[in-house]
Amino acid sequence: MESSDHKFKPESLMMSYGYKPALSEGAIKSPIFQTSTFVFKSAEEGKAFFEVAYGIREKRASEELGLIYSRINNPDLEILENRLTLWDEAEECAVFESGMSAISTVLLEFLKPGDLLLFSTPLYGGTDHFIHDFLTKIGVHSVSFKPGQERGDIEKIIDATGHGERLAMIYIETPANPTNSIIDIESCSRIAAKYSTGTKKVFVAVDNTYMGPLWQRPLKHGADFSLYSATKYIGGHSDVIAGAVCGSKEVITRVKTLRTFLGNMAAPHTGWLLMRSLETLKVRMEQQAINAEKVAIFLETHPKVEKVYYLGFIKPGSKEHEIYKRQYSSPGAMLSFDVKGGEAEAFKLLNSFKLIKLAVSLGGTESLAEHPATMTHIGVDPAHRKEMSITEKLVRLSVGVENYEDIIWDLGQALDKI
Ligand SMILES: *Cc1c(COP(=O)(O)O)cnc(C)c1O
Repeated sequence: MESSDHKFKPESLMMSYGYKPALSEGAIKSPIFQTSTFVFKSAEEGKAFFEVAYGIREKRASEELGLIYSRINNPDLEILENRLTLWDEAEECAVFESGMSAISTVLLEFLKPGDLLLFSTPLYGGTDHFIHDFLTKIGVHSVSFKPGQERGDIEKIIDATGHGERLAMIYIETPANPTNSIIDIESCSRIAAKYSTGTKKVFVAVDNTYMGPLWQRPLKHGADFSLYSATKYIGGHSDVIAGAVCGSKEVITRVKTLRTFLGNMAAPHTGWLLMRSLETLKVRMEQQAINAEKVAIFLETHPKVEKVYYLGFIKPGSKEHEIYKRQYSSPGAMLSFDVKGGEAEAFKLLNSFKLIKLAVSLGGTESLAEHPATMTHIGVDPAHRKEMSITEKLVRLSVGVENYEDIIWDLGQALDKI
């Protein structure tokens, strides 16, 4: 957004962008528009709104999409969507009632029977399940690759399926959960370009839940979709389930059309909660990253800890570090570590915390710890789990906004119990 010659930063616009107080009795904050439908001023106006909503004609230059019905649009969702575009510098955004509904809607809209989907592993359990159990049922082929595999290896994997000419989407999660392995988005978009033809574009979708929207901007690296579980950092308070996807006007229009008919848009109250969350997004995430660094340094030298998986510890000079420098502006606030021992030692630790909560999910204001091998990643094939270093000794930590001395104290006293 421009104000004469000054371009405001996203964090400065999170309190006001896209909201006009004059339309809401001067209220400084957007009310919750808890309404299912909207009254038209005239039949002609209703007709005009429907013409635009159904794509019967293009919007005129000064015309705004009229409010019709809350499954199609609602002010709380529209303002939220406008604000979310600022972080990703996207043309458009669509918000959903969960991260999974954002992900499944994008996959359903851009894949059809006979198509090939290439995806990175490990993926979020829900996404993995949707690909294997649902997309397979409707005849979508899928094949995976691993972090660290080079472009040439990945192209061989695609070609070996025999469906390379039907490659329709590359879907990646970076950094991978829970071990923070990173995948090169630019390299994936080059693969997508190679398999695109004049009549078929191969799309690149990135689940940006772990590092977005602050520290990774997938669209800048050639991705077509930046997807979020807004339940995590965007919501940030562990009190709402929501999702979002950012991209070009063209792709998000398609996503919103399918959303209208699946009916999985976010509710007005969800939109309002997320707008409130966005005001503090940057300060929360920055504090979480500061805390995570202190915690990582503490764990790295602790005698009961074998290994720490943290982006800040990637070795300078390595190939991974080159991708890290290009793709991320912070090491983030998610880390994992191996305790010395196995499940018994990891469980002893998890059962001994006094401040850190034992729960799945991430990105909230409170620190959360969990055991991937028996919880979030229990569905992953055991051999694959081992290959990805998701073993019995691994503990995942989402670092919150508490005073880091307290988080470190809690980790220290719990590690002493092992
Ligand atoms: C939580 C999560 C999801 C799913 O989001 P919901 O809001 O729970 O539906 C998808 N991807 C990642 C990386 C997640 O952490």
